[in-house]
Amino acid sequence: MAFTVAIDGPAAAGKGTISKAVAAHFGFAHLDTGLLYRAVGARVLAGADPVQAALALDASELDGDALRTAAIAQAASHAAAIPDVRAALVDFQRAFAARKGGAVLDGRDIGTVICPDADVKLFITASAEVRAQRRFDELTGKGAATDYATVLADVKARDERDSSRATAPLVAADNAVLIDTSDLSIDAAVAQAIKVVQAAR
Ligand code: C5P
Repeated sequence: MAFTVAIDGPAAAGKGTISKAVAAHFGFAHLDTGLLYRAVGARVLAGADPVQAALALDASELDGDALRTAAIAQAASHAAAIPDVRAALVDFQRAFAARKGGAVLDGRDIGTVICPDADVKLFITASAEVRAQRRFDELTGKGAATDYATVLADVKARDERDSSRATAPLVAADNAVLIDTSDLSIDAAVAQAIKVVQAAR
């Protein structure tokens, strides 16, 4: 049976960690939909047209490690504001959500646009400062040369663009359960998410 968990929220709120943990706990498949937009962003940085890049996207090419740079994140956020780019990625996401055995999809518009009938909707958030610190730690941990102020500015710019765009803006679905991870450990946040999913099964 299909069972869809939609997990949305801003950058570095903990969506990825929570989504992976929920998927592993219940044996569901997991799709990080940000990677689709990042793959488009990477192709745009290499000179491609964003809509053509989205139409030509081959999901088997998604390499999470290579796509997780600050430059690709910003390019992804620009491309994601283009309605035809978003439209080109809908079918793949919905097919993934409908697979037998359960699926967790995380992104910005999963509970609102891609899977409005998801069995469970979570909206994961945290303050911009906490999210910037996490992203800073992640980037410097990978050896990137950056500073906290730059990362905070990037996070805020991406929040603003993602929240204010006309098509599928970042917003919590009416029936989403909100989890604020600002003052929660990863384990506590994961435990809350698992509890919500368990209650809906
Ligand atoms: O989640 P991640 O930071 O990898 O997403 C990169 C960018 O892709 C976001 O800033 C957002 O603009 C876009 N995105 C989106 N809709 C999604 C997932 C990501 O617009 N479902």
